[in-house]
Amino acid sequence: MRGAVIHAPGDVRFEQLDDPKIQQPTDAIIRTVLTCVCGSDLWPYRGLEPIGGPHPMGHEYVGIVEDVGSEVTAVKPGQFVVGSFATSDNTCANCRHGWQSSCLHREFMSTCQADYVRIPHAQGTLVATAEHPDEEFLPSLLAVSDVMGTGWYAALAAEVKPGATAVVVGDGAVGLCGVIAARELGAERIIAMSRHESRQKLATEFGATDIVTERGDDGVARIKDLTDGIGADSVLECVGTAESMQQALHATRPGGNVGFVGVPHDVQIAGEELFFSHAGLRGGPAPVRRFLPDLIDRVLAGRIDPGKVFDLTLSLEQVAEGYRAMDERRAIKTLLTP
Ligand SMILES: [Zn+2]
Repeated sequence: MRGAVIHAPGDVRFEQLDDPKIQQPTDAIIRTVLTCVCGSDLWPYRGLEPIGGPHPMGHEYVGIVEDVGSEVTAVKPGQFVVGSFATSDNTCANCRHGWQSSCLHREFMSTCQADYVRIPHAQGTLVATAEHPDEEFLPSLLAVSDVMGTGWYAALAAEVKPGATAVVVGDGAVGLCGVIAARELGAERIIAMSRHESRQKLATEFGATDIVTERGDDGVARIKDLTDGIGADSVLECVGTAESMQQALHATRPGGNVGFVGVPHDVQIAGEELFFSHAGLRGGPAPVRRFLPDLIDRVLAGRIDPGKVFDLTLSLEQVAEGYRAMDERRAIKTLLTP
């Protein structure tokens, strides 16, 4: 089969790789129907995360089950499946509490920009749809496997409630999906922080009621202008930089909550500042598996259309161009078709 391999910052190649095989009785092999490039793939691509040796890339996927190990009974060859970027047995103590991305047997998927993928703990990781979904739903189902699931978690972690005011920091795919989530959870006012016209437009289409283009202290001042001078009830931090985290914390009212899902890079929060902020903080890798059945239903019912975040579609063999386009912010998110 063929797949993407990163060799060095800025150097992703499309290469011949060994076909994945069932290694454990809990594995499945899927044929990739769609995969994509994630904003978090750009951290190593930009040299901001060590690469080590050359290794495959990709953690978002929808596919058709090709083969299953002897202990996998929940999904069968031929079924269309959606899974999370973090595998989970869905039976351990953390999974039972709904924190599948902290599964005691968790593995992070990392080989999905390829024709075929081995899925560990397939029984607990994959969710099959009742039938093969129509073509039009496929991008949104792919989005559910990471960015929509993560945006959903950001909104839940920020405790978005009906009638609340939510701020979304970050206009990447996760932030845009966070707007969808805030709307679905009943936020009355949704303020998207974005400087890019095409992203502002999509945020508005997804349910944002206000756009704030300022950043840093100016951005916080603008949020306070819009919220009786105190800050928002719920802030979704969807970037992961020191600046974005500060912006999120400062834009939250006392008693409000920050949901932070951008993977932190050099983020530090002073204890004293946190103490006096009265803000609640929850973050981490989203337990997407918990949300999959509900989000799949919302997509298939036509309630949500997160697949609109894909604004560039390439064939899998053009994966290197997919990375370049996102790195240069020519694309929000690249869809790859094997
Ligand atoms: Zn588990």
